Amino acid sequence: AIEIRELHKYFGKLEVLKGIDFTVNRGEVVCVIGPSGSGKSTLLRCVNLLEEPTSGKIFVSGNEVTDPNANIDKIRRSIGMVFQQFNLFPHLSVLNNLTIAQRRVLHRSKAAAEKVALQNLEIVGLADKVHAYPAQLSGGQQQRAAIARSLSMGPDLMLFDEPTSALDPELVGDVLAVMRKLATDGMTMMVVTHEMSFARDVADRVIFMDGGVVVEQGQPADVLGNPQHERTKTFLSRVL
Ligand code: ATP
Ligand code: MG
Repeated sequence: AIEIRELHKYFGKLEVLKGIDFTVNRGEVVCVIGPSGSGKSTLLRCVNLLEEPTSGKIFVSGNEVTDPNANIDKIRRSIGMVFQQFNLFPHLSVLNNLTIAQRRVLHRSKAAAEKVALQNLEIVGLADKVHAYPAQLSGGQQQRAAIARSLSMGPDLMLFDEPTSALDPELVGDVLAVMRKLATDGMTMMVVTHEMSFARDVADRVIFMDGGVVVEQGQPADVLGNPQHERTKTFLSRVL
């Protein structure tokens, strides 16, 4: 679970997050939507401390991430993150992309790491690409490999920041299908996305952000189908 309390984030004098409060319960899928610049990526990056919150508290699986004495490395290990860009190591095969952090960070044996890698490549439908290099994969395959790499670390929860935005339209579906499967299997997920149909079908809750605040949140059918706030209506009229 993720618990965010009174989170504020400034970049210099610019206040980008203006007091964010919400919880993602264990096994829940929360989609975060909102216009460009509303603070979605910053919010996600604060959860695993890629950005340092200015004030407020964040708890991940009961541990306070924002505690100055927190074991940040340990907490980060429990959080998988998938970005718009796939960030695979170009000089490593898919298999080695999936095993390197398992071996260096989790100190798994080569055999154990490869076993986990293969299981996760199976899940994302890439078992046949185990020896391929990233450049030999489509964008959608690279993103699925990046998801499998995150899963191989055994995360408690997964953060996704527009994982399909860099993909050609025909490749989006395969990646969303993998995410849908993770959701069904009970993974706790926070997903920043422009894919409204994914949010509608998969999310337990949708959060609409604008200008650094949560304007509206609730069940997808309510937020997307019957928004209460003018800003939500305006945003949805542009993207739906
Ligand atoms: P998008 O949909 O375009 O990805 P977003 O909702 O993810 O937008 P953020 O990337 O969180 O928005 O940015 C929120 C605000 O913070 C923007 O005004 C942005 O310019 C600013 N910002 C983000 N990162 C930094 C940074 N490292 N330094 C200064 N300002 C930043
Ligand atoms: Mg962003």
